[in-house]
Amino acid sequence: MRLVLFDIDGTLLSAGGSGRRAINAAFEEFFGWSVPAGYWFDGKTDRQIVRELMRAEGHDDADIDGHMDAVLARYLVYLGKALVDPAHPPRLYPGVAVLLEGLEARDDVVVGLLTGNVQPGAHAKLSAVGLDPARFVIGAFGSDHEQRPELPHVAQRRARETLGLDVAGPAMVVIGDTPDDIACSRGIGARAIAVATGRFSPTELKAHSPSAVFRDLSDTEQVMAAIMGDTGRDGADA
Ligand SMILES: [Mg+2]
Repeated sequence: MRLVLFDIDGTLLSAGGSGRRAINAAFEEFFGWSVPAGYWFDGKTDRQIVRELMRAEGHDDADIDGHMDAVLARYLVYLGKALVDPAHPPRLYPGVAVLLEGLEARDDVVVGLLTGNVQPGAHAKLSAVGLDPARFVIGAFGSDHEQRPELPHVAQRRARETLGLDVAGPAMVVIGDTPDDIACSRGIGARAIAVATGRFSPTELKAHSPSAVFRDLSDTEQVMAAIMGDTGRDGADA
């Protein structure tokens, strides 16, 4: 059995900048300041983003922890509005719909999420592009842990607890658009597949040694082969 874990932003979809606009609106409401233009969100968890931005504005960790849940609650309200802003429509990336159907048709694959989004934000973004969140059977979210490298362990544990599946690290596949997605696969021994639909080019991603790199997910046959590890060097099924 393979556990195939998709990142959301930059991998399955573009949320049209709604996450940045929403967190910005929450910070403006609480503290009166905005997210600096040069600050990047990709590869980070929502809680990590809140912490880094608040630290940069001089808040200490006790203050940050005290505000975290309230800031994220307001973020989610603003996100719901930002996702339906006709000026910045979210969109599904090429090949995603067909790839998901192909994976769902197999009986040796469980499809899931590994995302820095808190769970309600993840579900809102997926729904905004017409993907039913329930199609992702296992989820590890930014609401589960602030540090992305912990999330593969969350997904593994959830597969055991909710599906009774013991999935070894090498039978897990992490698909994402940033070096952080690739890096988070290492600790558990999962394979990483990188896709250059986010900010990073194929060359930049390749420098972090993923199992495979794709420009986008539209070559279903090749992407499927990479997911299933049909390269002769990985037979570590659970
Ligand atoms: Mg991403």
